[in-house]
Amino acid sequence: TDTAAFLTEADLSAQLVGDARQIRVLTGDRPTGPLHLGHYLGSLRNRVRLQDAGADLFMLVADYQVVTDRDAGAGLADHARGLVADYLAVGLDPARSTVFAHSAVPALNQLLLPLLSLISVAELERNPTTKAEAAASGRPALSALMLTYPVHQAADILFCHADLVPVGRDQLPHLEVTRTVARRFNTRYRPVFTEPRALISDAPCILGADGTKMSKSRGNTIALRATADETAAVIKAFKTDTDRHIAYDPQTRPEVSNLLLITALCSGQDPHTVAEQIGDGGSAALKRHATEAVNEHLRPLRERRAEVAHETGMLSQILRRGAERATAEAERTLHHVREAMGMAY
Ligand code: ATP
Ligand code: MG
Repeated sequence: TDTAAFLTEADLSAQLVGDARQIRVLTGDRPTGPLHLGHYLGSLRNRVRLQDAGADLFMLVADYQVVTDRDAGAGLADHARGLVADYLAVGLDPARSTVFAHSAVPALNQLLLPLLSLISVAELERNPTTKAEAAASGRPALSALMLTYPVHQAADILFCHADLVPVGRDQLPHLEVTRTVARRFNTRYRPVFTEPRALISDAPCILGADGTKMSKSRGNTIALRATADETAAVIKAFKTDTDRHIAYDPQTRPEVSNLLLITALCSGQDPHTVAEQIGDGGSAALKRHATEAVNEHLRPLRERRAEVAHETGMLSQILRRGAERATAEAERTLHHVREAMGMAY
Protein backbone atom coordinates (compact mmCIF):
# COMPACT_ATOMS: atom_id res chain seq x y z
CA THR A 1 0.00 0.00 0.00
CA ASP A 2 1.46 3.37 -0.91
CA THR A 3 1.34 6.04 1.78
CA ALA A 4 -0.95 8.30 -0.25
CA ALA A 5 -3.61 5.63 0.24
CA PHE A 6 -4.09 6.47 3.89
CA LEU A 7 -3.88 9.17 6.53
CA THR A 8 -2.84 8.71 10.15
CA GLU A 9 -4.43 10.41 13.15
CA ALA A 10 -1.53 12.87 13.20
CA ASP A 11 -2.23 13.76 9.54
CA LEU A 12 -5.88 14.20 10.46
CA SER A 13 -5.07 16.63 13.26
CA ALA A 14 -3.11 18.73 10.79
CA GLN A 15 -6.04 18.66 8.32
CA LEU A 16 -8.65 19.51 10.91
CA VAL A 17 -7.01 22.79 11.84
CA GLY A 18 -9.22 24.36 9.22
CA ASP A 19 -12.84 23.77 8.35
CA ALA A 20 -13.81 20.12 7.92
CA ARG A 21 -17.16 20.83 6.26
CA GLN A 22 -15.79 20.00 2.83
CA ILE A 23 -14.75 16.50 3.96
CA ARG A 24 -17.01 13.54 3.13
CA VAL A 25 -16.62 10.45 5.29
CA LEU A 26 -17.99 6.95 4.83
CA THR A 27 -17.66 3.91 7.08
CA GLY A 28 -19.51 0.68 7.58
CA ASP A 29 -19.94 -2.07 10.12
CA ARG A 30 -21.50 -5.48 9.72
CA PRO A 31 -24.58 -6.11 11.89
CA THR A 32 -23.10 -9.34 13.24
CA GLY A 33 -22.99 -8.38 16.92
CA PRO A 34 -22.31 -5.57 19.37
CA LEU A 35 -19.48 -3.17 18.58
CA HIS A 36 -16.33 -3.56 20.64
CA LEU A 37 -13.28 -1.68 21.82
CA GLY A 38 -11.49 -2.43 18.53
CA HIS A 39 -14.20 -0.60 16.61
CA TYR A 40 -14.16 2.24 19.09
CA LEU A 41 -10.39 2.84 19.12
CA GLY A 42 -9.89 1.82 15.49
CA SER A 43 -12.67 3.79 13.84
CA LEU A 44 -15.55 5.19 15.90
CA ARG A 45 -13.47 7.73 17.79
CA ASN A 46 -12.21 9.23 14.56
CA ARG A 47 -15.73 9.31 13.11
CA VAL A 48 -16.93 11.34 16.07
CA ARG A 49 -13.95 13.64 15.75
CA LEU A 50 -14.69 14.24 12.09
CA GLN A 51 -18.41 14.71 12.70
CA ASP A 52 -17.75 17.22 15.46
CA ALA A 53 -15.34 19.12 13.22
CA GLY A 54 -18.18 19.52 10.71
CA ALA A 55 -17.44 16.71 8.21
CA ASP A 56 -20.36 15.09 6.39
CA LEU A 57 -20.53 11.50 7.65
CA PHE A 58 -22.25 8.47 6.10
CA MET A 59 -22.44 5.26 8.12
CA LEU A 60 -23.47 2.07 6.45
CA VAL A 61 -24.98 -0.89 8.25
CA ALA A 62 -23.51 -3.53 5.93
CA ASP A 63 -26.34 -6.05 6.15
CA TYR A 64 -25.73 -7.74 2.78
CA GLN A 65 -22.14 -8.34 3.88
CA VAL A 66 -23.37 -10.56 6.69
CA VAL A 67 -24.01 -13.37 4.21
CA THR A 68 -20.40 -13.40 3.02
CA ASP A 69 -19.55 -15.85 5.80
CA ARG A 70 -22.81 -16.93 7.48
CA ASP A 71 -26.56 -17.20 6.96
CA ALA A 72 -28.61 -14.13 7.80
CA GLY A 73 -31.33 -14.82 10.29
CA ALA A 74 -33.83 -13.68 12.84
CA GLY A 75 -31.25 -11.72 14.84
CA LEU A 76 -30.25 -9.43 11.97
CA ALA A 77 -32.68 -6.57 12.62
CA ASP A 78 -31.77 -6.52 16.31
CA HIS A 79 -28.08 -6.42 15.46
CA ALA A 80 -28.70 -3.57 13.01
CA ARG A 81 -30.58 -1.54 15.64
CA GLY A 82 -27.87 -2.48 18.13
CA LEU A 83 -25.28 -0.90 15.83
CA VAL A 84 -27.31 2.30 15.74
CA ALA A 85 -27.49 2.25 19.56
CA ASP A 86 -23.70 1.84 19.67
CA TYR A 87 -23.30 4.80 17.32
CA LEU A 88 -25.52 6.98 19.49
CA ALA A 89 -23.61 5.83 22.59
CA VAL A 90 -20.25 7.01 21.26
CA GLY A 91 -21.64 10.41 20.25
CA LEU A 92 -22.57 10.01 16.61
CA ASP A 93 -25.52 12.27 15.95
CA PRO A 94 -28.17 11.27 13.38
CA ALA A 95 -29.19 14.91 13.04
CA ARG A 96 -25.77 15.59 11.52
CA SER A 97 -24.69 12.18 10.22
CA THR A 98 -26.44 9.74 7.89
CA VAL A 99 -26.94 6.15 9.09
CA PHE A 100 -28.50 3.65 6.68
CA ALA A 101 -28.70 -0.04 5.84
CA HIS A 102 -27.19 -1.28 2.59
CA SER A 103 -30.33 -3.27 1.68
CA ALA A 104 -32.44 -0.09 1.80
CA VAL A 105 -30.49 1.55 -1.06
CA PRO A 106 -30.93 -0.54 -4.24
CA ALA A 107 -28.91 1.90 -6.37
CA LEU A 108 -25.78 0.68 -4.57
CA ASN A 109 -26.20 -2.73 -6.19
CA GLN A 110 -26.53 -1.16 -9.64
CA LEU A 111 -23.33 0.79 -9.09
CA LEU A 112 -21.62 -2.50 -8.37
CA LEU A 113 -22.00 -3.89 -11.91
CA PRO A 114 -19.70 -1.54 -13.85
CA LEU A 115 -17.18 -1.69 -10.99
CA LEU A 116 -17.08 -5.51 -11.20
CA SER A 117 -16.08 -5.18 -14.85
CA LEU A 118 -13.00 -3.18 -13.90
CA ILE A 119 -11.18 -5.74 -11.76
CA SER A 120 -10.06 -9.29 -12.44
CA VAL A 121 -10.81 -12.46 -10.53
CA ALA A 122 -7.05 -12.94 -10.05
CA GLU A 123 -6.76 -9.52 -8.39
CA LEU A 124 -9.63 -10.36 -6.04
CA GLU A 125 -8.17 -13.77 -5.24
CA ARG A 126 -4.91 -12.14 -4.13
CA ASN A 127 -6.64 -9.99 -1.48
CA PRO A 128 -5.11 -11.00 1.90
CA THR A 129 -8.10 -9.88 4.01
CA THR A 130 -10.54 -11.86 1.87
CA LYS A 131 -8.27 -14.91 2.22
CA ALA A 132 -8.09 -14.53 6.01
CA GLU A 133 -11.84 -14.04 6.37
CA ALA A 134 -12.63 -16.96 4.07
CA ALA A 135 -10.34 -19.19 6.15
CA ALA A 136 -11.86 -17.94 9.43
CA SER A 137 -15.40 -18.59 8.16
CA GLY A 138 -14.75 -22.33 8.31
CA ARG A 139 -16.63 -22.79 5.03
CA PRO A 140 -14.92 -25.18 2.62
CA ALA A 141 -15.56 -23.17 -0.58
CA LEU A 142 -15.03 -19.46 -1.27
CA SER A 143 -18.43 -18.00 -2.23
CA ALA A 144 -18.68 -15.58 -5.14
CA LEU A 145 -20.05 -13.00 -2.72
CA MET A 146 -17.05 -13.36 -0.39
CA LEU A 147 -14.70 -12.98 -3.35
CA THR A 148 -16.43 -9.87 -4.68
CA TYR A 149 -17.36 -8.10 -1.46
CA PRO A 150 -14.42 -5.67 -1.64
CA VAL A 151 -16.07 -4.43 -4.86
CA HIS A 152 -19.43 -4.10 -3.09
CA GLN A 153 -17.57 -2.05 -0.54
CA ALA A 154 -16.14 0.06 -3.35
CA ALA A 155 -19.69 0.88 -4.52
CA ASP A 156 -20.64 1.67 -0.92
CA ILE A 157 -17.77 4.13 -0.59
CA LEU A 158 -17.83 5.66 -4.06
CA PHE A 159 -21.58 6.40 -4.19
CA CYS A 160 -21.23 9.37 -1.83
CA HIS A 161 -17.83 10.56 -3.13
CA ALA A 162 -16.20 9.92 0.24
CA ASP A 163 -12.74 11.45 0.75
CA LEU A 164 -11.96 9.61 3.97
CA VAL A 165 -12.77 6.15 5.30
CA PRO A 166 -11.90 5.66 9.01
CA VAL A 167 -11.10 1.93 9.24
CA GLY A 168 -8.94 -0.66 10.94
CA ARG A 169 -5.79 -2.03 9.30
CA ASP A 170 -7.60 -5.13 7.98
CA GLN A 171 -9.48 -2.86 5.57
CA LEU A 172 -6.45 -1.44 3.73
CA PRO A 173 -6.46 -4.09 0.97
CA HIS A 174 -10.16 -3.38 0.40
CA LEU A 175 -9.59 0.35 0.24
CA GLU A 176 -6.98 -0.38 -2.40
CA VAL A 177 -9.65 -2.17 -4.47
CA THR A 178 -11.90 0.89 -4.13
CA ARG A 179 -9.15 3.23 -5.26
CA THR A 180 -8.26 0.95 -8.15
CA VAL A 181 -11.78 0.63 -9.58
CA ALA A 182 -12.42 4.36 -9.10
CA ARG A 183 -9.26 5.21 -11.00
CA ARG A 184 -10.04 2.71 -13.76
CA PHE A 185 -13.59 3.97 -14.18
CA ASN A 186 -12.43 7.59 -14.34
CA THR A 187 -9.82 6.70 -16.98
CA ARG A 188 -12.03 4.36 -19.00
CA TYR A 189 -15.07 6.68 -19.10
CA ARG A 190 -14.84 10.11 -17.50
CA PRO A 191 -13.99 11.40 -14.02
CA VAL A 192 -17.02 10.53 -11.89
CA PHE A 193 -15.53 9.09 -8.72
CA THR A 194 -13.41 10.50 -5.90
CA GLU A 195 -10.43 8.33 -4.93
CA PRO A 196 -10.85 7.94 -1.17
CA ARG A 197 -8.18 7.53 1.47
CA ALA A 198 -8.29 5.34 4.55
CA LEU A 199 -7.95 7.01 7.92
CA ILE A 200 -5.91 4.68 10.11
CA SER A 201 -6.09 5.34 13.84
CA ASP A 202 -3.38 5.02 16.49
CA ALA A 203 -4.97 1.61 17.24
CA PRO A 204 -5.17 0.05 13.77
CA CYS A 205 -5.61 -3.48 15.10
CA ILE A 206 -6.71 -4.07 18.68
CA LEU A 207 -6.19 -7.66 19.76
CA GLY A 208 -8.80 -9.67 21.65
CA ALA A 209 -8.57 -12.03 24.62
CA ASP A 210 -6.94 -14.80 22.54
CA GLY A 211 -4.25 -12.51 21.09
CA THR A 212 -5.77 -12.37 17.58
CA LYS A 213 -7.67 -9.40 16.05
CA MET A 214 -10.60 -8.47 18.26
CA SER A 215 -13.62 -9.48 16.14
CA LYS A 216 -17.32 -9.82 16.79
CA SER A 217 -17.21 -13.31 15.28
CA ARG A 218 -14.36 -14.61 17.41
CA GLY A 219 -15.93 -14.19 20.85
CA ASN A 220 -12.77 -12.43 22.05
CA THR A 221 -14.13 -8.90 22.48
CA ILE A 222 -14.66 -6.23 25.08
CA ALA A 223 -18.10 -5.08 23.94
CA LEU A 224 -18.86 -1.39 24.33
CA ARG A 225 -22.15 -2.40 25.95
CA ALA A 226 -20.60 -4.87 28.44
CA THR A 227 -20.97 -4.17 32.17
CA ALA A 228 -17.97 -3.20 34.31
CA ASP A 229 -17.91 -6.70 35.82
CA GLU A 230 -18.09 -8.42 32.42
CA THR A 231 -15.24 -6.19 31.27
CA ALA A 232 -13.13 -7.15 34.30
CA ALA A 233 -13.78 -10.85 33.63
CA VAL A 234 -12.85 -10.60 29.93
CA ILE A 235 -9.67 -8.64 30.62
CA LYS A 236 -8.70 -11.18 33.30
CA ALA A 237 -8.89 -13.88 30.61
CA PHE A 238 -6.67 -11.92 28.17
CA LYS A 239 -3.62 -13.79 26.99
CA THR A 240 -0.36 -12.15 28.20
CA ASP A 241 3.19 -13.43 28.82
CA THR A 242 5.19 -14.47 31.88
CA ASP A 243 7.72 -11.61 32.02
CA ARG A 244 6.84 -9.63 35.18
CA HIS A 245 8.52 -6.51 33.83
CA ILE A 246 5.91 -4.66 31.79
CA ALA A 247 7.24 -2.82 28.74
CA TYR A 248 5.69 -1.47 25.54
CA ASP A 249 7.13 -3.35 22.57
CA PRO A 250 4.45 -4.38 20.05
CA GLN A 251 6.92 -6.42 17.98
CA THR A 252 8.18 -8.78 20.68
CA ARG A 253 5.34 -8.54 23.23
CA PRO A 254 2.13 -8.03 21.25
CA GLU A 255 -0.38 -9.06 23.94
CA VAL A 256 1.12 -6.98 26.75
CA SER A 257 1.57 -4.01 24.40
CA ASN A 258 -2.04 -4.31 23.26
CA LEU A 259 -3.28 -3.97 26.86
CA LEU A 260 -0.90 -1.06 27.40
CA LEU A 261 -2.21 0.67 24.27
CA ILE A 262 -5.83 0.11 25.32
CA THR A 263 -5.05 1.52 28.78
CA ALA A 264 -3.19 4.49 27.32
CA LEU A 265 -5.87 5.42 24.78
CA CYS A 266 -8.63 5.13 27.38
CA SER A 267 -6.79 7.33 29.89
CA GLY A 268 -5.17 9.90 27.60
CA GLN A 269 -1.64 8.70 28.31
CA ASP A 270 1.30 7.31 26.39
CA PRO A 271 1.73 3.48 26.46
CA HIS A 272 5.39 3.77 27.57
CA THR A 273 4.34 5.91 30.54
CA VAL A 274 1.68 3.38 31.53
CA ALA A 275 4.31 0.62 31.33
CA GLU A 276 6.66 2.58 33.61
CA GLN A 277 3.90 3.04 36.17
CA ILE A 278 3.30 -0.71 36.29
CA GLY A 279 7.01 -1.56 36.31
CA ASP A 280 7.54 -5.09 37.65
CA GLY A 281 3.92 -5.61 38.65
CA GLY A 282 3.35 -8.32 36.05
CA SER A 283 0.18 -9.21 34.16
CA ALA A 284 -2.11 -8.90 37.17
CA ALA A 285 -1.23 -5.24 37.71
CA LEU A 286 -1.42 -4.57 33.98
CA LYS A 287 -4.91 -6.04 33.83
CA ARG A 288 -6.02 -4.02 36.86
CA HIS A 289 -4.85 -0.83 35.15
CA ALA A 290 -6.51 -1.80 31.88
CA THR A 291 -9.82 -2.70 33.53
CA GLU A 292 -9.97 0.54 35.43
CA ALA A 293 -9.10 2.68 32.42
CA VAL A 294 -11.59 0.94 30.10
CA ASN A 295 -14.47 0.98 32.60
CA GLU A 296 -13.81 4.59 33.51
CA HIS A 297 -13.64 5.70 29.89
CA LEU A 298 -16.67 3.72 28.74
CA ARG A 299 -18.95 4.58 31.68
CA PRO A 300 -20.67 7.62 30.08
CA LEU A 301 -20.99 5.76 26.75
CA ARG A 302 -22.57 2.80 28.47
CA GLU A 303 -25.02 5.05 30.29
CA ARG A 304 -26.03 6.69 27.02
CA ARG A 305 -26.41 3.32 25.36
CA ALA A 306 -28.64 2.00 28.13
CA GLU A 307 -30.93 5.00 27.64
CA VAL A 308 -31.53 4.33 23.92
CA ALA A 309 -31.07 0.57 23.52
CA HIS A 310 -34.73 -0.34 23.98
CA GLU A 311 -36.16 2.45 21.86
CA THR A 312 -36.69 0.14 18.91
CA GLY A 313 -38.95 2.54 17.00
CA MET A 314 -36.53 5.43 17.29
CA LEU A 315 -33.56 3.29 16.18
CA SER A 316 -35.46 2.00 13.13
CA GLN A 317 -36.56 5.54 12.32
CA ILE A 318 -32.91 6.67 12.20
CA LEU A 319 -32.19 3.95 9.62
CA ARG A 320 -35.24 4.86 7.52
CA ARG A 321 -34.45 8.55 7.47
CA GLY A 322 -30.80 7.82 6.66
CA ALA A 323 -31.87 5.57 3.79
CA GLU A 324 -33.79 8.44 2.18
CA ARG A 325 -30.74 10.68 2.08
CA ALA A 326 -28.42 7.86 0.99
CA THR A 327 -30.84 6.85 -1.77
CA ALA A 328 -30.99 10.39 -3.17
CA GLU A 329 -27.20 10.56 -3.15
CA ALA A 330 -26.74 7.10 -4.70
CA GLU A 331 -29.27 7.77 -7.47
CA ARG A 332 -27.50 10.99 -8.39
CA THR A 333 -24.18 9.16 -8.65
CA LEU A 334 -25.76 6.30 -10.59
CA HIS A 335 -27.17 8.82 -13.05
CA HIS A 336 -23.68 10.24 -13.65
CA VAL A 337 -22.29 6.72 -14.06
CA ARG A 338 -24.94 5.79 -16.65
CA GLU A 339 -24.33 9.04 -18.51
CA ALA A 340 -20.59 8.39 -18.56
CA MET A 341 -21.25 4.89 -19.90
CA GLY A 342 -23.58 6.09 -22.65
CA MET A 343 -26.70 4.74 -20.96
CA ALA A 344 -28.68 7.97 -21.09
CA TYR A 345 -31.68 7.10 -23.29
P1 ATP B 1 -16.85 -9.55 12.09
O1 ATP B 1 -16.15 -10.53 12.97
O2 ATP B 1 -18.32 -9.77 11.98
O3 ATP B 1 -16.16 -9.37 10.76
P2 ATP B 1 -15.48 -7.22 13.10
O4 ATP B 1 -15.28 -7.18 14.57
O5 ATP B 1 -14.32 -7.60 12.23
O6 ATP B 1 -16.74 -8.16 12.87
P3 ATP B 1 -16.42 -5.33 11.15
O7 ATP B 1 -17.87 -4.92 11.16
O8 ATP B 1 -15.95 -6.35 10.16
O9 ATP B 1 -16.05 -5.82 12.63
O10 ATP B 1 -15.50 -4.05 11.02
C1 ATP B 1 -15.98 -2.74 11.14
C2 ATP B 1 -14.85 -1.74 11.19
O11 ATP B 1 -14.13 -1.85 12.41
C3 ATP B 1 -13.79 -1.92 10.09
O12 ATP B 1 -13.35 -0.64 9.72
C4 ATP B 1 -12.67 -2.64 10.79
O13 ATP B 1 -11.41 -2.39 10.21
C5 ATP B 1 -12.73 -2.04 12.18
N1 ATP B 1 -12.22 -2.99 13.16
C6 ATP B 1 -12.76 -4.21 13.42
N2 ATP B 1 -12.04 -4.85 14.35
C7 ATP B 1 -11.01 -4.02 14.69
C8 ATP B 1 -9.93 -4.12 15.61
N3 ATP B 1 -9.76 -5.21 16.34
N4 ATP B 1 -9.06 -3.08 15.72
C9 ATP B 1 -9.23 -1.97 14.96
N5 ATP B 1 -10.24 -1.80 14.07
C10 ATP B 1 -11.12 -2.82 13.93
MG1 MG C 1 -14.65 -7.98 10.07
